[in-house]
Amino acid sequence: MQHTWADRFASRASGLVSSEVRSLFSVASDPAYVNLAGGSPDVGALALEEIAELTRHVVATRGAEALQYGTGQGAPELREQIPVVMAEEGISASPDEIIVTTGSQQALDLVCKVFIDPGDVIIAEAPSYVGALATFRAYEADVVHVDQDADGIVPDLLAATLASLQATRRTPKLLYVIPNFQNPSGSTLAGARRREIVRIADRFGVMIVEDNPYGLISFDTDPLPALKELNPDGVVYLGSFSKIFSAGLRMGWAAAPPPVLEKLICASESSVLSPSMYSQLTVSSYLAGNNLTRQVKAFREIYRDKRDAMMLALADYLPEVRVNRPAGGFFTWLTLPDGIDSKGMLAEAMAAHVVYTPGTGFYADGRGHSNIRLSYSSPTPENIRAGIERLAGVVRHE
Ligand code: PMP
Repeated sequence: MQHTWADRFASRASGLVSSEVRSLFSVASDPAYVNLAGGSPDVGALALEEIAELTRHVVATRGAEALQYGTGQGAPELREQIPVVMAEEGISASPDEIIVTTGSQQALDLVCKVFIDPGDVIIAEAPSYVGALATFRAYEADVVHVDQDADGIVPDLLAATLASLQATRRTPKLLYVIPNFQNPSGSTLAGARRREIVRIADRFGVMIVEDNPYGLISFDTDPLPALKELNPDGVVYLGSFSKIFSAGLRMGWAAAPPPVLEKLICASESSVLSPSMYSQLTVSSYLAGNNLTRQVKAFREIYRDKRDAMMLALADYLPEVRVNRPAGGFFTWLTLPDGIDSKGMLAEAMAAHVVYTPGTGFYADGRGHSNIRLSYSSPTPENIRAGIERLAGVVRHE
């Protein structure tokens, strides 16, 4: 008997749908295209020979641990080092409040597993990270967006949204914020707003999930106070090694208040038993060699040049389009002239051999048709310019 099994799926499986963004990745490796869609780090900036030697050393000297199971919370030595990485941004944390995860994506999944029942409300910036929205959907959360401007999520709108939800007896479980060089908008939450956001969340009893994979990839600005720093008991902080070292090792972490941490550890044990010991010891010995500071500095310079190349090309070729200028990270966000649909335009862009991400994927409420996320992280500055020139041709034709 032919069976699709769909009638046997759990109800939450209806929320598990393939990402628009990921389907664009299929052209990522075809050199005929300029890929402004993905958000992959520029691995060409990594010292591969050094890393090859380091991984050889890890297996040669600590193979019995590296190739074995570890504990659910993560290797103690890496948990000792993560607070040092966080301190680079002025964030204090102790090894005891940290769980190592398989990228911060797994941390997002664990947070939902611990906090979210079907129908629970999660507040997210509009627009927000597509991978987080997918996870929220998978846990059948109801995402309520709060608009942001060039200075991040707007505190008055947040307070009004929370008040109106409270009036209908719906207290959101989580407030999901990407305060630095946000994916997808590129904007950064202003310093004064951080205090307000933390105060408002505290007043309404909403846990903040502070997702900060890009904080160290800053081009011209000093770090602003982390939300976790402003209210350690009210924040689950998510960090990642993906953008500052390697995305392929799949290493991230969460720092959480004790009762939350305990649940996150149990939730992680039920999904992966322990994070990869091989990856953990590789990252740990990389950090022990003091390589990170040098690498972060190199990444900052590379991505700053690429940001500049993209901003210049946008000013030259698409002066009529509103552009957000990011002070760090991988992304910028465009608002197209009225009447142009970013999703509808994609086929033509593909025909012109340039790929971008339509804004629609970054909203849970159907908005984003006049927006585009562009990433400058992986193409060369020359390709970025060529890509924007092609994109301008497509926009003009529309
Ligand atoms: N959060 C944000 C905002 C991201 O942009 C990404 C990666 N694109 C992630 C989380 C997940 O990163 P990773 O799992 O590689 O740590």
